[in-house]
Amino acid sequence: MPGSKKPIKAVVFDLDGTLYLSGKPYPKAVETVNQVAAQVPVYYLSNNTSKSPVFYENRLLHMGLPLKDGAIISALTLALEAIHRENIKNVYFFANPEVFEWFASQDPSLNLAPSLEETELVLMAYHNSFDYEELCEVSWRLQRGIRWWVTHCDLVCPDVRGSVPDIGSFMALFHEAYAVKIERSFGKPNAEMLAPVFEHFAPDEVLFVGDRLYTDFELAKRSGCRFALPLCGETKRKDLNALSILPEIVVEQVSDIDFDSLIRGD
Ligand SMILES: [Mg+2]
Repeated sequence: MPGSKKPIKAVVFDLDGTLYLSGKPYPKAVETVNQVAAQVPVYYLSNNTSKSPVFYENRLLHMGLPLKDGAIISALTLALEAIHRENIKNVYFFANPEVFEWFASQDPSLNLAPSLEETELVLMAYHNSFDYEELCEVSWRLQRGIRWWVTHCDLVCPDVRGSVPDIGSFMALFHEAYAVKIERSFGKPNAEMLAPVFEHFAPDEVLFVGDRLYTDFELAKRSGCRFALPLCGETKRKDLNALSILPEIVVEQVSDIDFDSLIRGD
């Protein structure tokens, strides 16, 4: 659509299934993102809360991806802000140890391992190293009707060997067992996730690049930003047949997107 669009002034990338899979970058992905970052600000927005933002900073730098302060947007930060707004102090936090430690360091006044009686809220991150006892601890709290938030609702997480269950699958487990439902979710497709970007740019000046329809494309639709779908991750071309609205840009790999034209506004 030559000349019909505003120039893109910022690009937001999903991570798993978009820039890399199981920690291994897709061909030319790193080079492409660096070329984009030389022209406009680049942000990263992943729903994966199995690792902390500090872990992601190190991973992206190690891969050679460009990284500026505030470039990693995490559902963990949004969850922490909501906890502060509601003045909640006793949060049973179901998370990997590294994420648990990071979260505790952000607000040492929070009690993240309260007793059953003390617990005001259960917050679930993508915990992929729990044991059965931890699952029971969550179960006992949810049975009592304690408030339940999750960082995101993705059903599965991509892995090179096949996908693996993510929080949405755990939600289904607890719903099946106890007929309980979450009160809040923070990650994509919640448009609030893009607030740090929209502080600087109008939605139609932002391109979001992500591989998943029900989180990434949905976020773009809800927030009014532009969207590019690489087919290297979860979504396959045949999945597009079921859509009433198609993504603006569909490519095989991130490196196939003509960023230069989008930034020029061609
Ligand atoms: Mg993805």
